[in-house]
Amino acid sequence: LFITFEGIEGSGKTTQISRLATHLRSQGLEVVQTREPGGCRVADAIRGILLDSDNAGLAPTAELLLYAAARRQHVEEVIQPALAADQVVLCDRFTDATLAYQGYGRGLSLELIENLNTLAGAGLCPDLTLLFELPVEIGLNRALRRIENATGPAEDRFEQESLAFHERVRQGYLTLAERNPHRYRLLAAEAHPDQVFAQAVKIVDKILIK
Ligand code: C5P
Ligand code: MG
Repeated sequence: LFITFEGIEGSGKTTQISRLATHLRSQGLEVVQTREPGGCRVADAIRGILLDSDNAGLAPTAELLLYAAARRQHVEEVIQPALAADQVVLCDRFTDATLAYQGYGRGLSLELIENLNTLAGAGLCPDLTLLFELPVEIGLNRALRRIENATGPAEDRFEQESLAFHERVRQGYLTLAERNPHRYRLLAAEAHPDQVFAQAVKIVDKILIK
């Protein structure tokens, strides 16, 4: 089973993916927790290029292709083998993030991105996508506090984007959720982390724990 975690900056998905992995392992399931961009050596190196604030001059289409390259390596090296071994894969961002950020956010062709996603993702589609939904201002404030407290990753290129950019990303995710209701579940991510976790557990247990 392939579960993806999506949402804007500061939506808390990274915190929740770890908690959910622990929860599912405690139920005896074999879980692989991973993330994009990254998840393996080559893709982590590409992640470094993508997030480096010194690379502000990266052309949008070059950026798109780097995400695609990282994804293909990650899919072949990590995701496909895990799914083939019947493990539960929890992935922090996947193909929908490219549609949301490079498509709705940057304005690149959604049709082109869909084709590229099919190639880079080797045709894989998540069985379940948890969308961590919250207002952009709240998410960005959280992300900012994380930087100030230096408890999270250093400032990256995307945290310097405008509010309007992040708003387009948020609306893009909501559109994707509407178009893929069979696999999308929305979480009210403004809530306390414990409450967000409870929402996630309820959804995932219904599918995974018999
Ligand atoms: O999920 P995480 O915050 O680690 O993602 C790293 C950064 O890359 C984020 O700032 C996110 O906004 C950005 N990103 C992006 N396009 C993607 C995936 C992630 O702009 N397709
Ligand atoms: Mg981030």
